[in-house]
Amino acid sequence: MIFGAIMDKNLYAKRVVELNNLPVDEGGKCVIYWMQRSQRATDNPALNSAVNLANDLGKPLLVYFGLFDVYPMASVRVFKFMLEGLKEASAALIDKGIPFLMRREMPPEGIVRAAIEFNACAVVVDEDYLNIGRSWRKIAADRLPVRLIQIDAETIVPARITHKEEWGAYTIRPKILKALDQYMTDIPDSSINHKLRLEPGNSIDLSTVDPLTLANSLDVDQQVTPTPHSIGGLSEALSRLERFIREGLPRYSDEKNDIGVSVSSNLSPYLHFGQISSLRTALAVQDADAPGESIDAFLEQIIVRRELAINFCLYNNRYDSLDAASDWARRTLDAHRTDERPELYLLEELESAQTYDQLWNAAQLELVRFGRIHSYMRMVWAKNILVWSPTPEEALSQAIYLNDKYALDGRDPNGYANIAWCIFGKHDRPFAERPIFGKIRCMTSEATMRKTHWRNYIKP
Ligand SMILES: Cc1cc2nc3c(=O)[nH]c(=O)nc-3n(C[C@H](O)[C@H](O)[C@H](O)COP(=O)(O)OP(=O)(O)OC[C@H]3O[C@@H](n4cnc5c(N)ncnc54)[C@H](O)[C@@H]3O)c2cc1C
Repeated sequence: MIFGAIMDKNLYAKRVVELNNLPVDEGGKCVIYWMQRSQRATDNPALNSAVNLANDLGKPLLVYFGLFDVYPMASVRVFKFMLEGLKEASAALIDKGIPFLMRREMPPEGIVRAAIEFNACAVVVDEDYLNIGRSWRKIAADRLPVRLIQIDAETIVPARITHKEEWGAYTIRPKILKALDQYMTDIPDSSINHKLRLEPGNSIDLSTVDPLTLANSLDVDQQVTPTPHSIGGLSEALSRLERFIREGLPRYSDEKNDIGVSVSSNLSPYLHFGQISSLRTALAVQDADAPGESIDAFLEQIIVRRELAINFCLYNNRYDSLDAASDWARRTLDAHRTDERPELYLLEELESAQTYDQLWNAAQLELVRFGRIHSYMRMVWAKNILVWSPTPEEALSQAIYLNDKYALDGRDPNGYANIAWCIFGKHDRPFAERPIFGKIRCMTSEATMRKTHWRNYIKP
């Protein structure tokens, strides 16, 4: 069986989910890879699977991308960054003999139209761990005339080595480590045997389009403007990775929690849009000439913490709600609902950094201007929102709103898991009881000022 062949001959068996049970149409004219979450032309298990299937069938491959701007928190900032990445990815695909079809439309409807128009044998799609992406894949699975095969392409160890929501890093880490040797290995890109000549039709030709001009023409938030020094795409991600290995990695373990210095990779937006693979990044760091503690500390973040966040969103579709909290966390937050708050800020006051806390204001301004917050300060930032909100529910929704609106890496499993960690102790343990926080771990600006070179952080 053809589909059996693509599963057997590569390492992807645990990455595959068949989203419908329609047949692969061997009489069709091409295979389509519906690119959505993993926006890259290399190190991409979903693309490799599509190429392998096309080769098995003796057909060419077409890559489809649906450009959809009616998306929560869509802004010029994120679309410019994403389109820069797609421009580079589409050029690389075309070089490999794989045409890139991009249309401005609702993706699940667009992929169904494309499958009919190009007489597809089957469609392969990368996996999205969030609700919107899941719902798009479900719509497409129900309406496509051929099989829809989903590949988990964003994890190093496939998300389905575990079949349930994990309690924390301490439960997922042993499972990941046990399987890691098998998956921490460089897999060469598959190359397509049959090239497809495609008349552009009504495809957006990214080779002739300026990403910023295109982003500006979309129906997206124009107030959230592109951040200085953030250029999307694999080349920029690779040069950041190289710089990080040279300059940041040697100091990573000792200094990553000091908000006065910047030693982290700044790769999260590239990982969020799938412009660079976490496997490529982790392999480069693993092989680097740097202190072992720093290498281990980085691999813990990009493998264990990142894949724990994916596990959370994959197995708990209430990831952005207090419904996802453990019983102990809900009980303790309930017990402290009526505790007096030092101040209650409106969303507008938070958004415009109008609080009494100069460190928090600096973090919020960093978010608004640069689309990021220093990793350590990001925890303190969210913990303070709990203190200044009338209820934990409101704290959660305000933190998610601000993070998703301004952060270039927002709308990501990492964001939902970490905000849940800050506000309701997800994946964390109970601590000594305090006002407002109850048994949720407390972090404050004052403590951060005592421990870090914070003056460097608030310098204009
Ligand atoms: C309140 C809050 C909101 C957050 N929102 C997001 C978000 O929207 N998107 C996002 O990608 N990350 C989010 N994080 C996690 C973390 O802060 C960022 O991944 C990190 O700051 C990105 O910077 P970096 O790429 O330089 O990280 P590095 O330290 O260089 O780490 C490399 C990669 O490892 C992963 N990683 C690092 N820390 C974590 C973590 N705590 N949990 C999961 N994965 C991690 C990321 O993919 C990161 O790019 C949030 C954290 C908090 C506390």
